[in-house]
Amino acid sequence: MSGPVIKGWCPGAYRPMMSGDGLILRVRPFRSQLDPTQVAVLCDLAEDLGHGTLDLTSRANIQIRGLTEAGHDSALQRLMAARLLDPDPATEARRNIVMHPDHRPGELTDRLYLALCTGLGSLPELPGKMGFALDTGAYAMLGAASADFRFELSRDGQLILRADGAERGRPVTPEQAVPALAEMARWFVDSDGPASGRMARHLRHADMPAMWQQTAPRPQSPAPQPGPWGAGTILGAAFGAIPADALRRLMRDSDARQMRLIPDRLFWLTGARDVIAPGFIQTPNAPLLAAHACPGAPHCRQASVATRDLARRLAPHIRGGLHVSGCAKGCALSRAARLTLTGRDGRFDLIDNGRAWDQPSQRGLDPAQLCEIYECP
Ligand code: SF4
Repeated sequence: MSGPVIKGWCPGAYRPMMSGDGLILRVRPFRSQLDPTQVAVLCDLAEDLGHGTLDLTSRANIQIRGLTEAGHDSALQRLMAARLLDPDPATEARRNIVMHPDHRPGELTDRLYLALCTGLGSLPELPGKMGFALDTGAYAMLGAASADFRFELSRDGQLILRADGAERGRPVTPEQAVPALAEMARWFVDSDGPASGRMARHLRHADMPAMWQQTAPRPQSPAPQPGPWGAGTILGAAFGAIPADALRRLMRDSDARQMRLIPDRLFWLTGARDVIAPGFIQTPNAPLLAAHACPGAPHCRQASVATRDLARRLAPHIRGGLHVSGCAKGCALSRAARLTLTGRDGRFDLIDNGRAWDQPSQRGLDPAQLCEIYECP
């Protein structure tokens, strides 16, 4: 069997990616936030042109699966009318930004976001998967989010720019932030970083200037969990998949002012009333939050196995993270999990404490054997 096709770029709205069940269109909401009207537009889009589900992504974006080529233009027009689309494909492709969800107009995170959006054009061309994190909110929480250039705070509140993979960063003022980022990005390109594709991989063999490694970031706080948070409530959904009709109902019943997307497939409903939301994850540390599974077969043409039913059965029995992947590409989780099961030729390879493409310790298991090993029903 040939290996999975690694595309090296992320889908967008302008440039959706073909999958086994049609086009995957990814929307990057500005400031990772959606007002109720924008949520309704996405729900309608998913039902009218896709499979009726919205997928939360690990980088706090939203995907709609199952579009046809013929429906793409209509989707773009509706996204543009709802202020959910960049003016051009190049800007959209570069605006790979995750930000602390509790940002407010005029505060540092918001100012950095504006400066970064304005300054994206001053950066050299970077590999398609590279991105930026603005972890400058009340406490640090984006350390595990996928990003290559990180704006963070030191213990004493100094803004720093840190290359992902480096332990320390470069102190900058808010005004210096984007010029310093451009300088670091140029160094990455000039030192052959694009051959590695990501900053952390590049730093394993490249020496970065010492002046960019002066100041440690403040420690990370525990990751956000479902439940009341600030002026609202955080929710999750199994594997990040939300049926459009359930989301529409949730927005109506909770009377939320905004839906703010949080990395690792959570979202924060600001100003929301307390609601019981069937189908959503509302309890902290629910086993399904630590279970990752791509759509698998028959939805993706690279998968030879179904993934999500098995992940649901196994999740309560695996401590420390489960990843069930339709193939070795590992779309649902790029980091190691306590147990990873990778589909191959209709069966699963088992990897302990590794990623979907790592060396398996057992090969060719079927779901019944796995459920026997992990004592699930
Ligand atoms: S990991 Fe899953 S979604 Fe990604 S290419 Fe493989 S089967 Fe498809």
